[in-house]
Parts: sequence; structure tokens; C-alpha cells
Amino acid sequence: MDQEKIKEGVKLILEGIGEDVGREGLADTPARIARMYEELAGGMQMDAGEHLGKRFHVEGSDMVMEKDITFYSMCEHHMLPFYGKAHIAYVPTDSVVGLSKIARTVEVFARRLQLQERLTAQIADAFMENLAPKGVMVMIEAEHMCMTMRGIKKPGSRTVTVVTRGVFDDNRDLQDRFYRMLGR
Ligand code: ZN
Repeated sequence: MDQEKIKEGVKLILEGIGEDVGREGLADTPARIARMYEELAGGMQMDAGEHLGKRFHVEGSDMVMEKDITFYSMCEHHMLPFYGKAHIAYVPTDSVVGLSKIARTVEVFARRLQLQERLTAQIADAFMENLAPKGVMVMIEAEHMCMTMRGIKKPGSRTVTVVTRGVFDDNRDLQDRFYRMLGR
């Protein structure tokens, strides 16, 4: 990541809104924001395969669900946060991943500029590619700051996206089970 470019960019925004970039409170802001982006956009340097590659063999193929995974991302249209919960269920073929790796996979794709629809699909595709389950279903519920602190200002409204792959695609029973396990 090019820290100098980020610093320059932040300085220009501050000047653009009419701030005095030399005043005490702002002196370290460009450098601080540049360091912050190492974390907020750090997913671009991460590989989901690394996390989903650590598998455990299992017999049988019962649905595994990890729900209420808290995540923070940024919308690519406004560079404002959107955040909420991701719920992931998959039907293993012959292997499962550690539960913490599921949350790590969400972070890989959340920590970059995103669209909620793409985030949902990328998580599902990463499972299909790396774990080769019989199918996966991903649901994300999120609040978008670009809808709550600006524009139409609807605090508390949530955007819900759902993606299915494999056996979940045309199996209503499996989908219903997903919502039941979620408590919906
Ligand atoms: Zn936005």
C-alpha cells in the first residue's frame, strides 16, 4: 500500500473542505489515516484460500452454520462504513474448516472497498473454490452509513443480501433450514 499517496490525498481533502492542515489537531491526521487504511483495506493483501485451506476430514454431511459474524467494510461509492452480521452455512462434502477460519474469510473480503452484494457472493465463491462443499448459503445484514448519516438518512434500516451456491440453489427445504437455524 502506498502510504504517501494516501497522506497526500487526505491533505487535499482537508484543504478542499477549507481546513487549515497546519493546525495542531490535524497535524498527524493524514499519516494516521494512511496507517488506518493498512487495516481497513488490508483484505486486498489477504488470500481466503489460506484460511479455508486448513481442513478437517468428517464423515457424514450435515449442514454447518456459523451465524452472527460481525464485520466492518466500506462502500466503494462513498468510502463510508457499512457493517453488520454475516451468516454462513455449508453442507460439507468430506471436510470442514475451523470455525474461526470462517470469520477470517469474511474479513478477507470485508476489509476493502466493497458492495454488499459482491461481498456476499465473494464469500460464497471462496467456500466453493477452496472447500468444495456440496453447497453454501451466505446472508449478510448490514447498515450503511451512506444511507444513515447522509442522503436519505434512514437510521436503523438494514440491507439484506442472500447468495446460494450448489445444493442450496434449488432446495427450498435446505433454505428453510438455514432460516430456521438463524431463528427467522
Ligand atoms: Zn455508499
